[in-house]
Amino acid sequence: MRVYKFGGSSIGTANRVRHVAGIIQGALAETRIVVVVSAIQKVTDLLAEAAALAGQGDPAYRDRISEISGQHVTICHELFGAADADARLDGMLSELADVAGGIFLRHDLSDKSLALVLSYGERLSAWIVGRYLTHAGIYAMSIDARELIVTDSNFSHAKVDTHATDRLVREKVRFSDSVPVVTGFIASAADGSVTNLGRGGSDYTATILGAALHADEVWIWTDVDGLFSADPKRVPDARVLPDISYAEAMELSHAGAKVLHPLAVQPAMKAGIPIIIRNSFNPGAPGTRIEASPATESALPRPVTGLTSINHVVLLNLSGSGMAGVPGTASRLFSCLARHSINIIFISQASSEQSISLAITPGQTSMARRVLEEEFSREMDARRIDPIHVRRNLCMVAVVGNKMSGHPGVSAQLFETLGKNGINVIAVAQGANEMNISVVVDSSDEDKALNCIHESFFLSRRKVHLFIAGTGTIAKSLISQVRAHRSTLQEEMDLDVVVCGLANTRSMALDRGGIDLEHWHEAMKPRDDHDGIVGYIRRIREMNLHNTIVVDCTASTKVAEAYPDLLQENISVATANKLGMAGPWELYRRISEARRKSNAKFLYETNVGAGLPIINTLNDLRNSGDKIICIEGVLSGTLSYIFNELRKGGRFSEIVRKAKDAGYTEPDPRDDLSGADFARKLLILGRELGYRLEYADVECESLVPESCRGEMTPGEFLDRLSGIDDWYAAEIENAGSEGMTIAYTGELKDGKAKVGLKRIPVESPVAGLNGTENLVVFTTDRYLKTPLVVKGPGAGGEVTAGGVFADILRIAGYLV
Ligand code: ADP
Ligand code: ASP
Ligand code: MG
Repeated sequence: MRVYKFGGSSIGTANRVRHVAGIIQGALAETRIVVVVSAIQKVTDLLAEAAALAGQGDPAYRDRISEISGQHVTICHELFGAADADARLDGMLSELADVAGGIFLRHDLSDKSLALVLSYGERLSAWIVGRYLTHAGIYAMSIDARELIVTDSNFSHAKVDTHATDRLVREKVRFSDSVPVVTGFIASAADGSVTNLGRGGSDYTATILGAALHADEVWIWTDVDGLFSADPKRVPDARVLPDISYAEAMELSHAGAKVLHPLAVQPAMKAGIPIIIRNSFNPGAPGTRIEASPATESALPRPVTGLTSINHVVLLNLSGSGMAGVPGTASRLFSCLARHSINIIFISQASSEQSISLAITPGQTSMARRVLEEEFSREMDARRIDPIHVRRNLCMVAVVGNKMSGHPGVSAQLFETLGKNGINVIAVAQGANEMNISVVVDSSDEDKALNCIHESFFLSRRKVHLFIAGTGTIAKSLISQVRAHRSTLQEEMDLDVVVCGLANTRSMALDRGGIDLEHWHEAMKPRDDHDGIVGYIRRIREMNLHNTIVVDCTASTKVAEAYPDLLQENISVATANKLGMAGPWELYRRISEARRKSNAKFLYETNVGAGLPIINTLNDLRNSGDKIICIEGVLSGTLSYIFNELRKGGRFSEIVRKAKDAGYTEPDPRDDLSGADFARKLLILGRELGYRLEYADVECESLVPESCRGEMTPGEFLDRLSGIDDWYAAEIENAGSEGMTIAYTGELKDGKAKVGLKRIPVESPVAGLNGTENLVVFTTDRYLKTPLVVKGPGAGGEVTAGGVFADILRIAGYLV
């Protein structure tokens, strides 16, 4: 014999009821069945709202009652036909309206009346399911559990009298000639008043019946494929746990895994009856089996079974210098709360004994505070205990597993994961059974915490979430590189690089599951609510995903100005945009300070020399104790190209024109010829060496002749520029006669930075450059006679994007 319990979602519509009848019919071919049903989906919530409104004297309670009536009438009409109205249904619904009406008139809602109102949910659903089964040719009888389950008179969380209940169940539930359909959740006290077993209590009803009737198995039919490693609605990567022990299931359900009522495991465990959790929407899925010693347990040696959360908790803190070493404080605290039926979800006391933190539900907060202030009024008057401190908007996340005990490293891993994601842990507790580590964090971090902890303990493949700013050349190349390389990274590094956001000044795409990189153009929709980069960053924060990296492929000051805040929020940044590190000193200082304080990373290798390893080389030299004497070289691809061509004998203005046509210059070539971009790179290197430099401190020689500086189009500028061609030709020749040539180079030495035109020996490495090559020469204590040279293409979408990608992977390596 099996007990089949169907949750509210499994019988939410007429079709669902038909489907459930099919499941029952199928099972009856194999064995006898006792059915337990919850109220129809959302009905218990609506009943509770109706009761609360009526209790406040708010006539809106009638809307809820009509909604409930409508829902049931519709289902009945669909199942039994409009003509077949039933006096029983009408009777129950009008009785419910009367009960609620009475509460409304009295303006008073007692726990007792609430339990009565809630009981209609299961009474209606059991009647409908029973009637439909009979209608479908399966002889069924609905049974009101008030005749079976005896409890104390704690109306909303009644305690079951197992002895009396077992006797009644065995006496009254006959399943030889019909299928009993029992109301879940509800029970009755000795005086006959209605009680209930707490929200979600139908699971408990099912195992109570299973144990009393010596069922072979209790099946909990719900709307997900089983008990998951985490709530699948919050953690998309959660997986079904095929087998777990009673102890683990109990721990998970107590810690918030709503799929199973916390008390439901006990009766089954005592009677040694396996509980099977299955999906009524997907009956083919094997589900989860909960039993004493699960078969595959040894095959799954992981220390953590699952994680859970309790959404809304409030932390009460009792503290004061008068608490340490005073025996009895904790005992008074807990007895006081127990006397007032305040349920404590979490307790933590540090060894200093000066403070005890408790988590409770928000609804019980004001009462808890009041009764504790009464209890400790003397101590508070004498200032030995401080006023109760209340902290709201919190949630509790628990990591559960019976193999955690004696397995060092679980809490280290937990806290490291939370820390790297910038999630502040407000309180911590671990029971001595070592089956549960609970942390209290801010509510806004709940999903992020669940997902990053889940990934850390359950998945070998880790995710990083990228939000790209800018959709220009670099971003485009980066997107293609990520697309091309993603599967290799998944296979070889167990890393999944997911692009969750793309934005430019006009449009934006956001998708926490990842944007399809084949068709990202289509995902980029102009949005009415697009309020630029500030809005984009706000949305990134709101999404609050773990392992988030903002990738700046813009040349926007606004984006650069957001770095300190991003870092402060523990969001990492990989940037090709120089305007942060080469921005005003104040911005640079704020970025540096945020980097020091943040757990997030900030990488900008491509700010200098695109994909060339210049900043990393510099840092490696410095970090390993080398002393840098001088950095010199060419850090502008455009200027490199112009002088490399000039040395081959070209005319200056024609070379600039050619460079512009080849796309080597900015739209206005004067931006390159001014040397400003080069100067910014040198500024970054100077700051990297520890010099307090502003842009204005870099001595920068502009190659834009005076005559070409005013307002003019790039075309006009190029025409006028030819006036300087002869001068360059002569200069090259003059230098050549001394074994020298000319180049536009930069030098950083003794805290001074300068960029400009310079004569250099023809055999110098700079004179040997080709195309748009960059070159940096590091002269250091260790690399004195033969300086260290980094050379290669220092511009271009592909190499820059490659450098950004490498930074992203470096950050990913740190995060995961
Ligand atoms: P029912 O109406 O069938 O009783 P519940 O809503 O009470 O269903 O419980 C099922 C829900 O529990 C799932 O839809 C899921 O969102 C939630 N849940 C929370 N934690 C877990 C978990 N660890 N495994 C499965 N489901 C979970
Ligand atoms: N209907 C009740 C509730 O919603 C009991 C249950 O679903 O198990 O809490
Ligand atoms: Mg439930």
